[in-house]
Amino acid sequence: MLVKQIWTGNAYRNFNYLIACAETGEALAIDPLDHVKCLQAAKDEGWSITQILNTHEHHDHTGGNEAVVRATGARVLAHKNAAGKIAGVSRGLSAGDVVKVGKTVELEALDTPGHTLCHICLKSHTDRPALFSGDTLFNAGAGNCHNGGDVGELYETFSQQLAKLDPATLVYPGHDYIANNLRFTLDREPDNRRAEQMLGKLAGQDPSRAYVSTLEVEMQVNTFFRLTSPSVIAKLREVFPDLSDAPDARTVFTKLRQLRNDW
Ligand SMILES: [Zn+2]
Repeated sequence: MLVKQIWTGNAYRNFNYLIACAETGEALAIDPLDHVKCLQAAKDEGWSITQILNTHEHHDHTGGNEAVVRATGARVLAHKNAAGKIAGVSRGLSAGDVVKVGKTVELEALDTPGHTLCHICLKSHTDRPALFSGDTLFNAGAGNCHNGGDVGELYETFSQQLAKLDPATLVYPGHDYIANNLRFTLDREPDNRRAEQMLGKLAGQDPSRAYVSTLEVEMQVNTFFRLTSPSVIAKLREVFPDLSDAPDARTVFTKLRQLRNDW
């Protein structure tokens, strides 16, 4: 499996991706908003884009579909319930469906609601798995829920699906928000040394050669996986004095998501 992360350089800080089969050169484009850069990257690599996967229906993920389809004839794949929200979807995906790219690449669809209610993450069937996480999981952060989402669903996705994946899984998110997210982690958990070190190294990184984290790293620096941390809970109680001594994880997640919105 060949992976090319494409930095759009736009105001929303989107990452687009090409995933290709090394044997056939067939490629799948994930959320190819910057169609010019995606088509050029495929050309440079000698790859042909045969499929587009939209992680979800927001325009900053689907806005490049039309141009890529026109140039390549690629099929559009998305969550089965996104078909009415994204033009030209020819394959609707459910949890566990496998997307093949060329002869050698298999990507498994995870049904990951929360940021929106029809959001797909892709997990590669490779020796070392990779997760293309759209706007569900960011480096050191979680997607917002204020544009068609649901924070309870996002909590379920994090706790019941993402937290159970192989810790070695590489994380490829839909946006570069790492520096701001690490600052939020440190605001919530000032004694998180790992987050402090990462921020020192990655603030001002060149997103065209972005750091790629793993789920193991996310468990250490991503507040939304650190719901039982005594520091996280103590700081949260400063803002929400009614919070109990041992709040349940769903409550902590919900409050953190709420704080992140205003932060
Ligand atoms: Zn989105």
